[in-house]
Amino acid sequence: PSTVVRLRDMGIDAFKVASVLKGVVAQRLLRRICDACAEEVSADSLPAAMRPPARHRSTVRIRRAVGCRQCNGRGYRGRLPIFEIMPVDETVARLIDGGALPDAIGAAARKLGFRPLWDTGLERVWDGVTSIEELTRVLGGHSAEDTAPPSVGARRDAEPAAVLPAPAASGAPRILVADDDAQMRRLIRGVLQREGFEVAEAADGLDALELVERGGVDLLILDLDMPRLDGLGVLEELRAQMRTATLPVIVLTAQHGDAEEKALDLGAQDYLTKPVQTRSLTARVRAVLKRINT
Ligand SMILES: [Zn+2]
Repeated sequence: PSTVVRLRDMGIDAFKVASVLKGVVAQRLLRRICDACAEEVSADSLPAAMRPPARHRSTVRIRRAVGCRQCNGRGYRGRLPIFEIMPVDETVARLIDGGALPDAIGAAARKLGFRPLWDTGLERVWDGVTSIEELTRVLGGHSAEDTAPPSVGARRDAEPAAVLPAPAASGAPRILVADDDAQMRRLIRGVLQREGFEVAEAADGLDALELVERGGVDLLILDLDMPRLDGLGVLEELRAQMRTATLPVIVLTAQHGDAEEKALDLGAQDYLTKPVQTRSLTARVRAVLKRINT
């Protein structure tokens, strides 16, 4: 299954996978369908292999994303995590250890209650909280013949707006600047680069999440007012995931108000009010980085 394939990709050898694990967890984020504009469609519109069993038909509500003003025409608002938990007992461990095919490992784990991401994801599609298009986008292609959970390599993602620079030999902290205002990003980037930081940029909340989830970001400077997913939404997503729960975040706001308080409640370390004073920007960045390094 995908989780084991991923551990192998990380260079953890099969023996270690088998000997140290009681279970393996994978997580993906799906976009939540916008309730204001979602359109109900027939279960028969799903590919045959993805239709709900007949006994579930009465409770099923398949929906399609449309787009309205409330969701900025995207058809989705907010995100929804799905999990895959693969229990590992001696039999499964032996299969992993022996280099068995993912299908065989998955079949053995299913007897222990293993449910692949596709299964849990499809249930959310049947609940109508996300769409089959979104599930397919996040997990990659899935056909009737292909019943094995896809490996992580099968995931197809849109190209991010920006790509993080490769780790610098200097080991300079890497800062991601998320703001829909290109001029603001350029200004902040210039200031921080002069101070010796590495800087990457994201033009909206979803791109920011995407880049953070790829790893290598030491600090996020986050504008609150952004399209697709606003800053508070980004903070909520970050704090909900173990891997990013403690990422330091400095919030940018246009004015004093409720939003910055909410951001601090959601675990932002600090905030800056626009227009940004370059000296206080570098001071706050240094202070936050110092706090996490001590
Ligand atoms: Zn909508």
